[in-house]
Amino acid sequence: MFHIDCSKSYIMVVGCGALGNEVLKNLTLMGVQHIVAVDFDSVEIGNLTRSVLFRKSDAQSKRYKTDVIAERLKELNPQLDIKTIRGDIVYDVGLGLIKQMNVVIGCVDSQWARFCINRYCMRAGVPWVDGGISELEGTVRVFVPGINCYACNLGPEGLKDLKRRMPCTGIIRRHEEAASVPTTSLIASVIGAVQVQEALKLLEPKALSEGSLESMCGKMFYYEGEHLTTRLVNFQAWDDDCAEHECWEPVTHTKLTPKMSVSKALQLLRTELAAHEVKISLLNDCFVDYVEERASDRRWEVMLPGRKVEGFVERHERLSGIPLSGLYQHEYRQLDENFPYKELTLADIGLPACDVLYVSADGRKQFVEME
Ligand SMILES: [Zn+2]
Repeated sequence: MFHIDCSKSYIMVVGCGALGNEVLKNLTLMGVQHIVAVDFDSVEIGNLTRSVLFRKSDAQSKRYKTDVIAERLKELNPQLDIKTIRGDIVYDVGLGLIKQMNVVIGCVDSQWARFCINRYCMRAGVPWVDGGISELEGTVRVFVPGINCYACNLGPEGLKDLKRRMPCTGIIRRHEEAASVPTTSLIASVIGAVQVQEALKLLEPKALSEGSLESMCGKMFYYEGEHLTTRLVNFQAWDDDCAEHECWEPVTHTKLTPKMSVSKALQLLRTELAAHEVKISLLNDCFVDYVEERASDRRWEVMLPGRKVEGFVERHERLSGIPLSGLYQHEYRQLDENFPYKELTLADIGLPACDVLYVSADGRKQFVEME
């Protein structure tokens, strides 16, 4: 019988749309006690026909999906420990937090978001379950570090194509077109249920290795509603040379916090890592101090993480007439003694709480976790 005690497990759900609603509802009903939900959007009228946890009043008052989710799940289980992060999985979730999870469940609709979830889960050594839905079709895939990797399944050409289309940061960053196909609550129910079933199995590694439970890892579940077709096809790839699934171990715990200034952080790292020279690589984003019009050399001070530059340009009256391609952004990709704005805090630079930093200490690679 499929019975798993999941009261002590920690599960993160990325994306609180139609699929995320189903997954979160299922996890709560199955007795999961500790949930982290991540989403940056607010509730819209269009979400209501396929999202069990949202109400019309939430859309009217434009409440954030994460706030609504926390409230409604607590109605289902008042003892639930739910933490929410209103933000983007690409930038706003510290790797240290992902490391605390037993499983991550992806309910996102873009390849880029999947790629990033995979990268972080592999770095953290945490398995993740991906779900995808369109109007009448859906898929579920399970990725476990050491066995199956999303990026490896894309293959070198697919990877190149994805990276070309999705430069991680910068003013030319383009958002992947969100799937415009209408999804239904039915397909979300089917896929969300399979995702949770697979996620719960991953909480029982012993039963999986002994064979009394069978994981879908290495296979893809496919469901098509119109002709009621279900398929389980092979979907496994693990290429030892893939840079995307590098595990970030071991991690050094430090007293670094996002509120600390860059200069203090560098000083603390030098002491804690016993190094003369330390450099913090900004791998997920860059820091932009100014943008310049290519044609005129006119310059505007920005002082924001790269991900916020596009919004800055849109809001800035004098910049609004200039196409993004007509601008050059001046950026920093690492924090070291040469970084000129050392009075800024790590949070100002864009580093989230509990993040794990990629640090070079006298040329040695170190993974450093913030508080
Ligand atoms: Zn890989």
